[in-house]
Amino acid sequence: MKNLEKKIYDDLKTIPPKKRRELLIREMANLTDKNIHCFKCTGTCCTMSANSMQITPLEALDILLSLNISAENANEFKENMKENIKHYRLDNEISLGKKAHTHLRKTYTCPFFVPGPKGCTIKKELKPYGCLGFNPRLEEDNGSQCHSDFNLLEAREVSHLPNETDANAYIKILYQLNWNKLEIPKAVLVLLEHIYP
Ligand code: SF4
Ligand code: SF4
Repeated sequence: MKNLEKKIYDDLKTIPPKKRRELLIREMANLTDKNIHCFKCTGTCCTMSANSMQITPLEALDILLSLNISAENANEFKENMKENIKHYRLDNEISLGKKAHTHLRKTYTCPFFVPGPKGCTIKKELKPYGCLGFNPRLEEDNGSQCHSDFNLLEAREVSHLPNETDANAYIKILYQLNWNKLEIPKAVLVLLEHIYP
């Protein structure tokens, strides 16, 4: 993991995770200043009632960094991902037709969500971009009218596009991945199985 991390973050000069999320984290702080936050919510957006998040290989690598994965605990994480995938039937892809070249997005409770005050167990500066861009818009809303800030997410993506494209291409070639985005547990499991076979 250390070597891969070094290769991706140093050799490719990949922008550090916190910098890549700067716009999104700043907006969350702005909302919190206006008393618009997730502090009292049960975390609806992380559960199968609303979550269908898909992430890139680079975002999956960021999650692994947040979890401090090692040879000692990798198997435990792999088993958790497999259980989650099985439970929400994420391995059973439903095609939207030959012409669509895409699959039905499924909802699932994120394996990194812990009900209660803890909520998400991934460090803020390493969370998927889509998670950071999905926020409440009203004070004391508690999850009823939250939505993604697509303009902000797009602005972030555009500002880091060449750098992230290189990093994702590097990971895809390294592990011969044929996908650009997958559900969180599937993306994390694929990387775990390559890094800790
Ligand atoms: S990574 Fe965190 S914020 Fe994103 S869906 Fe999972 S638990 Fe929720
Ligand atoms: S974004 Fe909305 S649904 Fe998700 S934890 Fe915050 S308040 Fe709850």
